[in-house]
Amino acid sequence: MAANWKMNKLPSEAEGWANTFKDRLTRVDNFDDVDVVLCVPFTHLAPLHTILHDSPVELGAEDVSAYESGAYTGEVSAAMLKDVGVTYVIVGHSERREYHAEDDELVHDKMKIALEHGLKPILCVGETEEQRDEGKAKEVVLDQLKADLQDLSINSADALAIAYEPIWAIGTGKTATADDAQEMCAEIRSALKDLLPDVAEEVRIVYGGSMKPNNADELLAQEDIDGGLVGGASLEVDSFIQL
Ligand code: PEP
Repeated sequence: MAANWKMNKLPSEAEGWANTFKDRLTRVDNFDDVDVVLCVPFTHLAPLHTILHDSPVELGAEDVSAYESGAYTGEVSAAMLKDVGVTYVIVGHSERREYHAEDDELVHDKMKIALEHGLKPILCVGETEEQRDEGKAKEVVLDQLKADLQDLSINSADALAIAYEPIWAIGTGKTATADDAQEMCAEIRSALKDLLPDVAEEVRIVYGGSMKPNNADELLAQEDIDGGLVGGASLEVDSFIQL
């Protein structure tokens, strides 16, 4: 279960959230069965690492530079993320594809550098509402997957996760039906059998798009949905604890 805070909360607010969350987690039954990741803005990573390093909660960044180091003003490298205790990184979120013109070539380079540094990318793929209405959802998602993963060498299923995030469901309150989400996640798993044959069965495929405590059970019960990438409902401790 991965939180994506996007550009929300001040670092000081994040510290209060993390302290409360850590405390409440000790009272959650079967917590050991769930892997929890908080993907937060760069400024929040070091202070949250200080609070969470002795807890089972892992830290994720929301982006990573495609470059190793050097004259790339404003970028944050994979090595920098590792150094502050980050283990996961969201790559290719639709908001970065749309507002920062990230194409599949750049997403692929970010995947590559994250994997080379031992960061676990959560690769986001998904179609727009228009593409779904035109019957092109599967083609769009599988094309993204192929371009973003091509020629990457991955031999552990734990090295990455795929997030199916229909763009029309992100932050809109509209959720894909459990059947539609399962159908696409099964297509993704089947495509992974060609792209990453050694790990396809075990790789985590998660759903993202207005997942909330009241719709999560049905989505998470689907065979090929192994978890969630959660924006809005991860901002409050209460709803994220429930998830
Ligand atoms: C997301 O940001 O990846 C996301 C799924 O957001 P929300 O849960 O708010 O739709």
